[in-house]
Amino acid sequence: MYIPTIGLEVHCELKTNTKNFSSAANAYSEIPNRNIATVDLGLPGILPVINENGVKQSLKMAFAMHCEIPEFMTFERKNYFYPDLPKGYQITQFDQPVGVNGYLMINVNGEDKKVLIHDTHLEEDTASLDHYGNYSLIDYNRAGVPLLETVTEPCMHSVEEAIAFLESLRSVFLYCGASEARTDRGQMRCDVNVSLSDSENILGTKVEIKNVNSFNNVKEAIITEIKRQTEILEAGGSIAQETRRYDENNMCTYSMRSKEDAIDYKYFKEPNIPPIKIEREWLEEIKKEIPALQYERITTYMEEYGLSRYDATILVKEKEMAEYFEETLKEGADPKSACNWITSVILGHMNKYEIPITKLFLTPKMLVELMELVSSGKISSKQAKEVLLKSLEEEKSPASLVEELGIEQIGTDDEILVIVKEVFGEHPEVKEQYKAGRTNIVDFLVGQVMKKTRGQANPATTRKLVQEEIVKGE
Ligand code: ADP
Ligand code: MG
Repeated sequence: MYIPTIGLEVHCELKTNTKNFSSAANAYSEIPNRNIATVDLGLPGILPVINENGVKQSLKMAFAMHCEIPEFMTFERKNYFYPDLPKGYQITQFDQPVGVNGYLMINVNGEDKKVLIHDTHLEEDTASLDHYGNYSLIDYNRAGVPLLETVTEPCMHSVEEAIAFLESLRSVFLYCGASEARTDRGQMRCDVNVSLSDSENILGTKVEIKNVNSFNNVKEAIITEIKRQTEILEAGGSIAQETRRYDENNMCTYSMRSKEDAIDYKYFKEPNIPPIKIEREWLEEIKKEIPALQYERITTYMEEYGLSRYDATILVKEKEMAEYFEETLKEGADPKSACNWITSVILGHMNKYEIPITKLFLTPKMLVELMELVSSGKISSKQAKEVLLKSLEEEKSPASLVEELGIEQIGTDDEILVIVKEVFGEHPEVKEQYKAGRTNIVDFLVGQVMKKTRGQANPATTRKLVQEEIVKGE
């Protein structure tokens, strides 16, 4: 048995209006070559200008990942030739990236773990190539889109940890509003480094799998690569340090280039962009825009509200859902029952009709009103479920539905007691029978009260009052 070690380099496009170094739109377009400026094409004489919002979003992310932020950040040129890189170099960060030495928390099988982040740096995306048989076309829409690359330390030791890290990172982007992080649009892609070793303390030779484009492919690529390396080592061979590619159709990796063919990028300072001083006041402002993140919210939900990790995890999956839940608490809801209503009925409705929580008719306030109708005994929880579903489907408030359906329970003790007494009056023999041991006569009496009220008496209150009444002397 070998111990696998995994390190990830995750690229994620940032959400900005324009590209990182030009005024072309940073927008997804089905039509190729719509959003291009001369800078993105690398035409002679171009002058890149850094996008302030790109810097801001990357600082936000660096903070959220607990990174150290340098006083000045610098940009460097990474030189290589490829058809998707018209300038012949990529503007990236090498010497002083936007963040170093950070971490993100993950939880795998109930165990917390810190995934260490070596650095996160701001760069530009390449153009995209569309391959058709014996020719390829280039689409420059993506060229120059701000890209944040986050590099972890080689510190994950299972597929589950790697996927948990990717999910955690994706949620930070979403919570911070720094990216839509859509893998189906190629907005989040990653290079996966895998090695095997006999011992925790020694790292084996790593193999890098380039540009894996979905979490599922990352998972499959890691599994496949661990298997391939295990077979080589078990047969007495050794692992060659190389770059491979994952082929999702055949679910295998194949070699792209070996260590000897590694590219020398000849990094040097980007002469057109001076070092950027990061003003501490600006940094403080940016910090304030970072909301409580998933991990933090899960801890609060478990420790302060007594929710299970399972429930808390469902609630924080999307920031909007977490905010909805927290809003119900502000309105005075009991956390556990609010969580139950949200994760069962409301989420079920959202999934069935594919409605995001932001488009839901039912406001947190309405949900709390419904919960109060149950806790005050006006309607039963079974009725509340019906009302809630109807409210979601017909877009009517729970209060108006309760009225419309005439299902309000006779809730107060006094009201029910009047009817209980009536029933006892109609059946004078019951107390004797109860004394003689027919204790199930209580069920009969409760049934009578229900009948008289056409099911609108609160069953628990009715039972309690019948119990009290039956043991009373004349
Ligand atoms: P390089 O110099 O080849 O770029 P780095 O040390 O900068 O390598 O690491 C690049 C990525 O590879 C990082 O994500 C890091 O965590 C990962 N990595 C480095 N060594 C290993 C290893 N032995 N096993 C798995 N991943 C590794
Ligand atoms: Mg890079």
